[in-house]
Amino acid sequence: MTSTVDLRNGGEGCRDAVPAPVPGVLELSLSVGELENLSRFDRADVDERASRAVDAAEALGAAELAQRARLVRADLLRRRGDVAEAGRRAQEIQRWATEHDARHLLARSSFVLASVFQELGDLSLALEHAVRAVDLLGDDVLPETRIDHLARLADCLGLGGDVAARDRYDTVLALAEELGDVDRQLLVLNNRAYCETVVGAYEEALVWSTQLQELAARHDVPMSVGRLDTVGRALVELGRLEDAEEALLPGTAPEVLDRTLDGDAGADFLLTLAEVRRRRGSLDEAQATLDECVRRCERHGLTSIRVRARREQAELHAAAGDFRLAYEEHRLYTDELMDLQSAERDARARALQAMYETTEARRQTRRYRELSLRDPLTGLYNRRYVDDQLPRLLERAAAGSVPVTVALLDLDHFKTVNDTRSHEAGDQVLRAVAELLEEAGSSGNGSFAARMGGEEFLLVQVGAAPRAAAGRLEDLRATVAAHPWHELLGDLPVTVSIGSAGTSGSSPAAPADLLGRADGHLYLAKRQGRDRVVGDPS
Ligand code: GH3
Ligand code: MG
Ligand code: MG
Repeated sequence: MTSTVDLRNGGEGCRDAVPAPVPGVLELSLSVGELENLSRFDRADVDERASRAVDAAEALGAAELAQRARLVRADLLRRRGDVAEAGRRAQEIQRWATEHDARHLLARSSFVLASVFQELGDLSLALEHAVRAVDLLGDDVLPETRIDHLARLADCLGLGGDVAARDRYDTVLALAEELGDVDRQLLVLNNRAYCETVVGAYEEALVWSTQLQELAARHDVPMSVGRLDTVGRALVELGRLEDAEEALLPGTAPEVLDRTLDGDAGADFLLTLAEVRRRRGSLDEAQATLDECVRRCERHGLTSIRVRARREQAELHAAAGDFRLAYEEHRLYTDELMDLQSAERDARARALQAMYETTEARRQTRRYRELSLRDPLTGLYNRRYVDDQLPRLLERAAAGSVPVTVALLDLDHFKTVNDTRSHEAGDQVLRAVAELLEEAGSSGNGSFAARMGGEEFLLVQVGAAPRAAAGRLEDLRATVAAHPWHELLGDLPVTVSIGSAGTSGSSPAAPADLLGRADGHLYLAKRQGRDRVVGDPS
């Protein structure tokens, strides 16, 4: 069977470096882009470097860069075989990217998730992510990144047996040629050849794997065992056994056979070679090759290849005329195959389940967090939300020279409502006022209303000039006073006093100063007779 070693790799780079307000961020951004690019290939030090990049990014407060470096590590984890954990981390990162509107990170995490789902056998989810990974790429990404994302989409189509993959591969190959990126050309050729074997188009597979061999030879790039296996497999399937053995031979050199990080590539390759040798009648050589394959399976715990090696062993016994041994080995093969298949199914199900559970847990956390920022009686935001959001809102507004007006509202003589009607009636008044406020605060661009506690509310207006903001507050006051309260309270009126304060210029106002000024104006409004608005002197 052909190795999918290349089909399982991932990586890219990003040119749109974060502008460097902090020294070191630009440099780090370039380095993370480079790591993303390198992670596409077997490089021993990428994980170590990515881990240092996470620390450096955190020290600089560059959260998105830290997430990108974490994603590089998650992808490496996947390549080392921990697909479930890799998928869990990639999903976590994708959620962060969604919440922070980090488009490049969204594209990157979909790129990684595409291969996670590919390995978990869910090709349709894999395809969905691969499409997103391409759609979300900015115009300014490195050409290597674009190639990687387009290639993954082609892989997902190709593994699904979709002929549209061929056009895709043509495009990607042309891009890699244009860039003069030999490593990526080799990768694309290998994956294309592999996909052709998947759909049984061995002639096609041979065309591409021959190109692969020729390009590697021209550039003195040693062919990995995985790639030799792709070539050999196509030749075997076409019945060209002698050519197959010749093509595979370079892989038996120890420096080639042991160079792979992926433990199973070597064993896979040996299995193909054993089959070729048996079919050519070299039974002793075939047995020696198979023995070496089995040793590697046992050393690296490669269960699935070990099982396939039993089938080859049965064939070998049969070829040697020992049908009793062949029969016994074949029975072991079928028993172990069934165990393996159910174990693999379980593992996949567990991995998907684990990924689903984190999604669900996250959804719950978000719900609780959202709830904890709301006032239960009125549904308005609460003081915690204000403490959390107001400083950021003021900073953002100042950066864009957008005016902000904050207003504190306090119900007049509210104690009387509770005392002469009921606490329940008081609650209903609070809810009704909250609704009127919510309407006033829903003008978009960041405006909002909150209940600060008791019968005191806050309205933050973003983007309205001071005069317009003051006009809306006067409207709000009048709307409260004119509300049909008699239906609930008889002849008892409900009015509010309002104190407001606004920001001016582009230097961010401290939230405490702004609220303090509004509170001072509220106090004046009460003193001047209630049911009125007092703001900054115009
Ligand atoms: P002022 O015009 O000076 O603001 O007079 P006031 O009566 O509104 O002021 P005060 O602060 O003395 O009273 C506020 C009252 O609001 C006291 C408290 O019982 C009532 N209150 C606070 N929270 C709630 C609530 O959740 N529900 C109800 N029904 N009443 C509340
Ligand atoms: Mg009060
Ligand atoms: Mg009051």
